[in-house]
Amino acid sequence: MSGHLLEARGLTKRYFARVGLRREPLLAVDGVSLHVDAGETLGLVGESGCGKSTLGRALLRLEAPTAGEVFFDGRRVDRESMRSLRREMQMVFQDAGAALDPRLTLGESVAEGLDIHRLCKTRGERRERVAALMERVGLEPSWMERYPHELSGGQRQRAGIARALAVEPRFLVCDEPVSALDVSAQAQVLALLAALQAELGLSYLFIAHDLAAVRQVSRRLAVMYLGRVVETGPAEEVLRHPLHPYTRALIEAAPIPDPRRARARQTRGVRGEAPSPLRLPSGCAYALRCPWAAEACARARPELRGEGGHLAACPRAFEGS
Ligand code: ADP
Ligand code: MG
Repeated sequence: MSGHLLEARGLTKRYFARVGLRREPLLAVDGVSLHVDAGETLGLVGESGCGKSTLGRALLRLEAPTAGEVFFDGRRVDRESMRSLRREMQMVFQDAGAALDPRLTLGESVAEGLDIHRLCKTRGERRERVAALMERVGLEPSWMERYPHELSGGQRQRAGIARALAVEPRFLVCDEPVSALDVSAQAQVLALLAALQAELGLSYLFIAHDLAAVRQVSRRLAVMYLGRVVETGPAEEVLRHPLHPYTRALIEAAPIPDPRRARARQTRGVRGEAPSPLRLPSGCAYALRCPWAAEACARARPELRGEGGHLAACPRAFEGS
């Protein structure tokens, strides 16, 4: 066995999207392999629509994958094993407002997992566990009587995290958990996730559409483009020596805190539009936007290759090395 806490091999999710009167296949996730080790964060970054959320849902089997396999702690994740693995793997959503039922008090929302898995014997014990969870995420325990609309965005996200933590998971998919928050709430929620990781040894798949959000929290990165991982490796390594031209463009497009440096930079970022996932080219899906594109790039879709765990799906990145 691999020894990774979570591992995906060739994970694929195909939808059928309505196009006019017909339904056409849409490859949202296309043969993704990745792993997350105990206690670490893998940052998953890529433009909106590239398949990040679909990948996260397929990992947790909130949707059945079309093909491929997921292993958690050496066990194959399938419909059967998911009954017991559901407790181990939880999701934190971008929009905690939508994840929390507006008709339930925070306490009821946080307790839902405790109830489903029958983790409390008495009402008193349940109340104590909910209070402790609220406190752990920085919310007043007495707020368990409040409703989601009475909270700020950051407080709702804390409640969403408490809800995920209730069943004592080991792995969280955090799907753009701070994208909808203002800057100070973002920093606080990121600090909370980091503290929880250090304290509880949690592993995260941390999803974001821009590098700025993932770079500070991730030990390793995976860069996704149109359903595929095009580059992965230790975060420092990927950011300092990006291999794939798409990763380079993302780094160029990432905001620079110093305004003078930002102005001096020639921002090019990612050129043009991504092709539709309904009509993927047969070759490299990035070729149409790529400054390095050569004739060969249109022929076959490049596989990930590289050394020391730093891999990229671009033969041009390795030319002359
Ligand atoms: P991301 O999270 O990176 O923004 P998504 O995983 O949400 O991307 O979507 C990936 C692709 O799959 C998009 O083209 C999206 O329109 C499509 N998609 C997502 N969910 C569905 C669905 N339930 N049915 C059909 N297409 C979907
Ligand atoms: Mg998404």
